[in-house]
Amino acid sequence: MTAPPLDDTYFMKQALAEARTAASEGEIPVGAVIVCNNQVIARAHNQTELLNDATAHAEILAVTAASGTLGAKYLTECTLYVTVEPCVMCAGAIGWAQLSKVVYGAGDEKRGFRRYAPQALHPKTVVLSGVLEAECAEEMQKFFRERR
Ligand SMILES: [Zn+2]
Repeated sequence: MTAPPLDDTYFMKQALAEARTAASEGEIPVGAVIVCNNQVIARAHNQTELLNDATAHAEILAVTAASGTLGAKYLTECTLYVTVEPCVMCAGAIGWAQLSKVVYGAGDEKRGFRRYAPQALHPKTVVLSGVLEAECAEEMQKFFRERR
């Protein structure tokens, strides 16, 4: 047995696992992990209900945790994997933290940053979209289907 390749799909699966944890806790199913040197250094999911905090998005919590782990405010060597396109607020946080790469699964036409704030990220940040897009979108659709 060889170890699984540590590629974008592999890490997005970890973010998806976080999203599923969120759903099981009644939270909107968005999950995120931050990877540095092929290692997950932070994982988080949306906790707006638990914390009664509209800003407790997965990306914000992950950035805060990763900065704590590294003891650094800038995450320039890190990649964020998130199941859904970051909102404007999170894109701002990702920009401040200067992550080198952002990979997301499903796009978000209504709240995603690409429509409203395409310049919010650091100019050097590489963005990749559509990794496990169907699975990531399905988590969101399933969640809202069950609630409406
Ligand atoms: Zn957000």
